[in-house]
Amino acid sequence: MAEENEKKEQVIIPEKLPARTDFVRWYNRVIELAEIVDRRYDVKGTFVWMPYGLKLMKNIVKKWDRLFQENGIEETYFPLFVPLKYAQKNDKWFEGFKKNLYAAVPFISEQGEEKLIIRPTGEPAMYPIFRLWIRDGRLPIKIYQTVSSFRLEGRTTHTMIRDREITFWYEIHTAHKTKEEAYEEMQRHIKINEHIWKNILNIPPIAVEKPKYELFPGAESAVEFYIILPDGRLLENGSVNNLGQAYAKKFDLSYVDKDGNKHYCWQVCTGNGARYLVAAIALHGDERGLVVPPSIAPIQAIIIPIYTKHEKEAIEAHASEIKEMLLKRGINACVDNRALTAGEKFYIWDIKGVPIRIEIGRKELASKEYAVFRRDEKKRYSVKQNELASFIKKVLQKEMPDYLYKKVEQFYKEKIKYFTSTEEALRWIKKGGVAKVHWCESEACYEELVSLEKAIEPSGSLLYERSKGKCIICGKETERLTLVGRGY
Ligand SMILES: [Zn+2]
Repeated sequence: MAEENEKKEQVIIPEKLPARTDFVRWYNRVIELAEIVDRRYDVKGTFVWMPYGLKLMKNIVKKWDRLFQENGIEETYFPLFVPLKYAQKNDKWFEGFKKNLYAAVPFISEQGEEKLIIRPTGEPAMYPIFRLWIRDGRLPIKIYQTVSSFRLEGRTTHTMIRDREITFWYEIHTAHKTKEEAYEEMQRHIKINEHIWKNILNIPPIAVEKPKYELFPGAESAVEFYIILPDGRLLENGSVNNLGQAYAKKFDLSYVDKDGNKHYCWQVCTGNGARYLVAAIALHGDERGLVVPPSIAPIQAIIIPIYTKHEKEAIEAHASEIKEMLLKRGINACVDNRALTAGEKFYIWDIKGVPIRIEIGRKELASKEYAVFRRDEKKRYSVKQNELASFIKKVLQKEMPDYLYKKVEQFYKEKIKYFTSTEEALRWIKKGGVAKVHWCESEACYEELVSLEKAIEPSGSLLYERSKGKCIICGKETERLTLVGRGY
């Protein structure tokens, strides 16, 4: 690029990213270079959201806010402090969570103060209030909150994947009069999740049903979503739980019908958070950095003026006109006027995954035809000024989401292979693949699958795929299939 720079604001040294198949190293580096987070905060399992990363995350939050509310699920906020006695109401829940809980203790402690814990998940704070709301005649209850939750993670923490402060965690909790109503609600939540996966993140969803013995005690059923990371590991990514009456009985969530009979409520809960963003980063990213799905991109089109000193004014003015024109057409455009070389700017915006880059230099100023770079395809197109906005809109709304979706679909196709022999399945898993196998869903065969190799897990039964076959462990006839791979 022919150009001359006056004062340089900073020096950018382009850095080659680790290979994506070396996923943990690639991921840790790219989230810092793209300024998603700063991982240097001095408390294990916590991190700082950087402005660009926060905008990106909040764009996802805005999407789910709208979706939930369109589905009649209203936003609430419950306190961070939870009385210990609430947490102990469901003894099985408490036993399971005890080792992960943080206590809230005043710095200067007074005698006789009530013991408090810090919210690890919503149930113990919400359900005692649900009891009162039901008495007030508020059934059905359909609410959610998006908050930080806190869990002491003994295992290795991974930014946005396994944190001690789980930020932007949404949890939906509902309560219903009948089992049928709760079932319908659960189906609605599965649809909402699939919509987020397909239309917002541009990723084909993998949905599985959890086996009965893996559920919360007393729960009816659960559907979990998974992604396959570039290194072939399976990562759980959100769940929808039909809780049955398990919690309702512990927290006395009940109503009295017109004949005076008492009935316990039926409940559904759903949760996920920053792991959605992890999925978009992991599955769309490449050797240059992130590729952000257009519908959640903080900047959709970045304009890079390229000039020598005496052209600066004219080209910057033109870049600004183009930006205004695009903004008017509903495209979130921005001009990068910093005193950096064009090459440095290309490098930075590639890492940040901005969907479209428009280059404007002397030639473009004269011809009114621009080089438009698509981040997903890594291809340049030459587009005339009067077609610029409609070209970009078409790419952002249709072509790029389709391209990203199909790319992940193709990746999944290559990663998932069907096996009827455990030795061959294991060989494939060791090579970084995911094995699809028939299984009978029994606990014994589940345990056997888990014990085949360290750190592998069956994900549950694929929700939508069925075919006739024999359980890979016991040989029993079955229609259910599961994905087996290394977990995270
Ligand atoms: Zn079996």
